[in-house]
Amino acid sequence: MSVNNHTRLLRQIPAVDEVLKDPVIADLVRSVPRPLVLKAIRDTIIQLREELAANRLQEQPEQQARDFFMGIIVQRAVYRARSQNRPNLRRVLNATGVVLHTNLGRAVLGESARQAINNAASGYSNLELDLATGKRGSRYAPVEHLLTQLTGAEAALVVNNNAAAVLLALGTLARGREVIVSRGQLVEIGGSFRIPEVMAQSGARLVEVGATNKTYATDYQKAITPETALLLHVHTSNYRIVGFTRETSIAELVELGRDTKLPVMSDLGSGSLVNLGTCGLPAEPTVQQVVKDGADVVTFSGDKLLGGPQAGIILGKKEYLDRMKKNPLTRAVRIDKFTVSALEATLREYIDLQTAWQRIPTLNMLTADINILRQRAQSLSAELTAAAGDQALFTPVQTPSAVGGGALPTADLPSWAVEVAPRCMTVFELAASLREAEPAVIGRLQDEKLLLDVRTLLPGEETALVEVLVGVLKGGVAS
Ligand SMILES: *Cc1c(COP(=O)(O)O)cnc(C)c1O
Repeated sequence: MSVNNHTRLLRQIPAVDEVLKDPVIADLVRSVPRPLVLKAIRDTIIQLREELAANRLQEQPEQQARDFFMGIIVQRAVYRARSQNRPNLRRVLNATGVVLHTNLGRAVLGESARQAINNAASGYSNLELDLATGKRGSRYAPVEHLLTQLTGAEAALVVNNNAAAVLLALGTLARGREVIVSRGQLVEIGGSFRIPEVMAQSGARLVEVGATNKTYATDYQKAITPETALLLHVHTSNYRIVGFTRETSIAELVELGRDTKLPVMSDLGSGSLVNLGTCGLPAEPTVQQVVKDGADVVTFSGDKLLGGPQAGIILGKKEYLDRMKKNPLTRAVRIDKFTVSALEATLREYIDLQTAWQRIPTLNMLTADINILRQRAQSLSAELTAAAGDQALFTPVQTPSAVGGGALPTADLPSWAVEVAPRCMTVFELAASLREAEPAVIGRLQDEKLLLDVRTLLPGEETALVEVLVGVLKGGVAS
């Protein structure tokens, strides 16, 4: 393209005002904020000029160039404006089979918790007003009451997450003093946060005892000095050391604590209020058991096995909890009204354990019947074959899935999935398109196949999944 031709062509690029008059753009402004549309048009025009300068566009006769440019600008601007107008946090269909997936928001809330959040979000609430007296109330009181009722603990406190719970507990009970912990329990909790670093932040000094695989009560005993403030037990809920191992139990630590007048704290990580051992999962100590064993302070997450919102739950003896409540840090890590409402609703579900298994999605998915999972995978596979059998091969397969979220690491959770082998694209292309779809679908790649595990699909999501998958297989990204 000659320089002259190039200059003439540049003049044929329509102005922003002209593009705005295009009927497609006029329609777009009804659903996308005008400033976003304007920016998308401007950016597209700049890009087009650059492409023209670099000779990257198809040669056009000058007479047709104007319509050609208009077509390109409208098409690209619509795509640009729409994608910038999409919320960043989007709905995802979890077909990974990992029930507590930290990247996918951990626990899915139950119906009652969702309603409670909606209620709290829709207007004012009595968050810190006691309606009986008209006086100031506590945002924590209702959940604290439920927690003590459900677990048998003397007192309770709820903060932003379990990392904050550990920080607050150590900072209150052991600031400037020593905390004894087993070397085998110095866990990294994901996102490269490690228990030793959280402890250091609290101002407590860590004293590691025992060997990686074995720690005895006598190891703790020998490490006790006048500087010791606390004996800490961390439940290694996200990994297991197997084989020649020994950890000191909470009960043993409590006995040592009683003899030496030291409080014992248990960081349970993914504390559960129900015994998952009764449904084929590895038996983990329940929160109630650890309280009963006599731990002075117990902490765990709200959005792991409990199946509630993100929160850090602290239970224990009133004297220690009262000290934590007076720590200014408590205010800095306090929970908001949405967490309060969702946590209260989730805890209420545990009042009736008969129905809790059904009504708390995390428990429901973890204990799903293998025969039902098989039937679901078979019918999903049949539906997909009927709708897009010419585009891919769909096969129901048995597969192991995981609990996730740093919980029950050794749990072997047999599950069922639909294996997808696309004919006209690679599985990587398929997986990428599914991530971009609306709703996004996240599966598991394995041996050049895409596995869609039905365990973590919520009621009704199969229909949406079929729609998205068929859309992607038959014609690019469904958005
Ligand atoms: C997950 C976990 C934490 C952190 O809990 P968050 O609620 O994610 O802050 C701390 N300790 C242990 C043992 C854990 O498993």
